[in-house]
Amino acid sequence: MSKRDYYEVLGIPREASSDEIKKAYRKLAMKYHPDRNPDDPEAESLFKEAAEAYEVLRDADKRARYDRFGHAGMENNGFNGFHSNDDIFSAFGDIFGDFFGFGGAGQGPRPQAGNDLRYNLTVSFRDAAKGKEITLNIPKKEVCDACSGTGAEAGTSPQRCEHCNGQGQVYQTQGFFRIAVACPVCHGRGEVITHPCSKCRGRGSVSVNKELKVRVPAGVDNGSRLRLRGEGEPGENGGPAGDLYVVIYVEEDKVFKRQGQELITSADISFVQAALGIRIDIPTLDDPVPMDIPKGTQSGTVLRLKGMGIPYLNNNHKGDLLVEINVFTPVRLSKRQEELLREFEQLDKEKPMEKVKGFFRKKAKKVMGED
Ligand SMILES: [Zn+2]
Ligand SMILES: [Zn+2]
Repeated sequence: MSKRDYYEVLGIPREASSDEIKKAYRKLAMKYHPDRNPDDPEAESLFKEAAEAYEVLRDADKRARYDRFGHAGMENNGFNGFHSNDDIFSAFGDIFGDFFGFGGAGQGPRPQAGNDLRYNLTVSFRDAAKGKEITLNIPKKEVCDACSGTGAEAGTSPQRCEHCNGQGQVYQTQGFFRIAVACPVCHGRGEVITHPCSKCRGRGSVSVNKELKVRVPAGVDNGSRLRLRGEGEPGENGGPAGDLYVVIYVEEDKVFKRQGQELITSADISFVQAALGIRIDIPTLDDPVPMDIPKGTQSGTVLRLKGMGIPYLNNNHKGDLLVEINVFTPVRLSKRQEELLREFEQLDKEKPMEKVKGFFRKKAKKVMGED
């Protein structure tokens, strides 16, 4: 692939001064910055191309070699361009420091990573258990596109700070000591904005609502945190963007509770159903499933449906669904029902010995069987 001429890349004449080179690069770096062009491979390659051109042209030696031999002169000198954005950012940070230290050996502000953001996301019990893609509307700061983040109105540029003479710092005397502090007028930048950008009012960033799709994984619990790299606030002076932490709050559910990976629910049956046994439908995270309640089930019995509970986050197994059986006692009986129950009770009383005997017989058998 043929390489574009470095001067052409930066859009400057061959006799450009080092200040012009800086300005041209800064403009391009802001324009093609990955934070402002996410998932745009063309912007990314332009961003890299500009960084490479600047890396060579800002250095008097390299520039002289390039002017004489072109790209061929660069090949054997250990510089073959930037391989990743990270490489550029480590260089980029310094370059920015340079820019803000404008015109002097002052210590401009260092690159600063953007702030992390936190977003509290409330999800329903079922969405947490089953997983869901949710679109978030995140209020966040972005580099202002009107001024490319410089804060200066289009067509103007920041001016050297008169107060600190562009150094970004001033000296104060305290007793015997002379100490350097950040310039109070330009806040250490070495330059001031005389005509603030009308879109961002000179801040260099604007507040926007960004839509972000988040995959809430099946099985997340209350308080889980999802980290979205680089979705926090933009960095300053070329620093990397912060991260976005989505903190999950899970709503309570009317039907289910959660205990670790186990899902817990309850089912009400009548005492007759408990005595005779019955098949009932149990609610699950998907469709209800039929479950056989055995004859003679006592109130408070817990039955288990295997693998119908909460999914584990790191494998595709699931916990169990526990069903607590509540046997309810009828409160209003018709005359006929009452008669039948009294008759039932009478029958029960007439055979107490047999029941007891049967019970002992069974037990005796069991003991014998064990011998
Ligand atoms: Zn602006
Ligand atoms: Zn100043």
